[in-house]
Amino acid sequence: MIKYNLICGADHEFEIWFSKSSDFDEQAPKGLIECPYCGTTKVEKAIMAPNISTSRKKEATAKKQAAALQMMNAAADKIRKEIADKCDYVGDGFADEARAIHYGEKPERAIYGEATPHEAAALQDEGVGIAPLPEILAPKPKSKTN
Ligand SMILES: [Zn+2]
Repeated sequence: MIKYNLICGADHEFEIWFSKSSDFDEQAPKGLIECPYCGTTKVEKAIMAPNISTSRKKEATAKKQAAALQMMNAAADKIRKEIADKCDYVGDGFADEARAIHYGEKPERAIYGEATPHEAAALQDEGVGIAPLPEILAPKPKSKTN
């Protein structure tokens, strides 16, 4: 069974159950479907209203996605704070600073900052241990500490 919302030439809206979806298309042109209000056989399918159960499902999915996003953001927040707390932000002096620490010219400490892809590649070639920091995990730059 399939339910159609129909509308007649006089804008009366009504519902009719059909056994299959092709029934309306077969019966309407033959004048077999009448408006229950005015009796006209000039009827057509009305725009369907959103299905409640579908929109509820969508709402539940959206809620789940929002919750997952919130969890991710909370986790990212924590990591961001941890990095901000434990590491020194050295801005675009990252390559120099990482190199100085690597070669023992400066005391060992955790740093983060910006490096060009060229600088990053050079550091890796020299065996300086660095890792890219995903944007979402990068703390908001604070003032340089050195
Ligand atoms: Zn009517």
